[in-house]
Amino acid sequence: MYPDRVVSGMRPTGAMHLGHYHGALANWIKMQAQQPCLFFVADWHALTTHYDDPDLIERSAWDMLVDWLAAGVNPSQATLFIQSRVPEHAELHLLLSMATPLGWLERVPTYKDQIENLATKDLATYGFLGYPLLQAADVLIYRASEVPVGEDQLPHIEMMREIARRFNHLYGKEKGFEQKAQDAVKKLGSKRAKLYNELRTQFQQDGDGEALEQAKAMLDDAHSLSMIDRERLFGYLEGSRKLILVEPQARLTASSRLPGLDGRKMSKSYGNTIALREDKDAVTKKVRTMPTDPARVRRSDAGDPARCPVWQFHQVYSDNATQEWVVKGCRSAGIGCIECKQPVIDAIIKEQEPMHERAQPYLDDPTLVRAIVADGNDVARKLAQETMRDVREAMGLSYT
Ligand code: SF4
Repeated sequence: MYPDRVVSGMRPTGAMHLGHYHGALANWIKMQAQQPCLFFVADWHALTTHYDDPDLIERSAWDMLVDWLAAGVNPSQATLFIQSRVPEHAELHLLLSMATPLGWLERVPTYKDQIENLATKDLATYGFLGYPLLQAADVLIYRASEVPVGEDQLPHIEMMREIARRFNHLYGKEKGFEQKAQDAVKKLGSKRAKLYNELRTQFQQDGDGEALEQAKAMLDDAHSLSMIDRERLFGYLEGSRKLILVEPQARLTASSRLPGLDGRKMSKSYGNTIALREDKDAVTKKVRTMPTDPARVRRSDAGDPARCPVWQFHQVYSDNATQEWVVKGCRSAGIGCIECKQPVIDAIIKEQEPMHERAQPYLDDPTLVRAIVADGNDVARKLAQETMRDVREAMGLSYT
């Protein structure tokens, strides 16, 4: 019914590091070549936890956009925009909040985890409780079909789907819907109208899923229908309501395989990161001083890669032959740790070379980034406004 769009955002909370690249950005870069993608700077989300430090957010937003472009996010393939520049997100968030039960928000597992993990902050705020609902608005407003997420975010997607379903159920009822839907059927032309009615009956009476899919495919091809008639006919297939918001699917992405320099999750708060655009000397120094298997006190002591964070870097960066060389050399004390780390250093520097090159024009002329984002904001806003027109109409707020 709507184009297969992917929507994903990131909070601007500091410079991006290689954990972000391997955990999310590399995946964005793959997806942007496959289908329409909207990638946004989630600045309102950053405020839910950093409401007392707003200066950091704006500065980080521009740095993060340069990092995205450096990593290979391509503005001619994907739409890049800033969440707060599309105020329709906030309007949809507000309207969805009217009918979202509090319990749905309180039961989101990350809510309690975050409150415990960020114990130094006062997160007993209305904004923080509502952030999964804002996330839902971010996605539903683009009628996205897919959201790339890790396993831990699945409950958020399930909640988005429930919110969309509840909204369609509450507000998809249109005055005179049955008659309007039947008028729309006639506009299909007699042959297709007959087929539509047959398939609808097969689905509604016998639960025939194939008939439903066939009818949906037929509607996808019915280009002569207006958008509103098409929505009516999609809704009429399954019941007597219009589909206003689309239930998105989760697109599971592998969680980052790249840990921090100390083997824990790579995170600025642990001080164990390599920045996306780190300079060569810093990369060399950071990897050279990485902890290794504590059993290798002397060069002659044998070690075990399974107890060493450097090995996890080899698993991301090294080919099979190098990995075999590491395992053999470590277990037999045939190689030293500094020697073992060199291929990792070389691979990171090689990975980062094109990133530095891609970033340079944007660092030389920051107006280039501003222009890309201004264009992206316009594209996103237009799509968001289309959805909001339907949402307002459905909720009796169109005042025409
Ligand atoms: S040889 Fe390599 S894998 Fe073994 S402990 Fe040293 S750095 Fe780690």
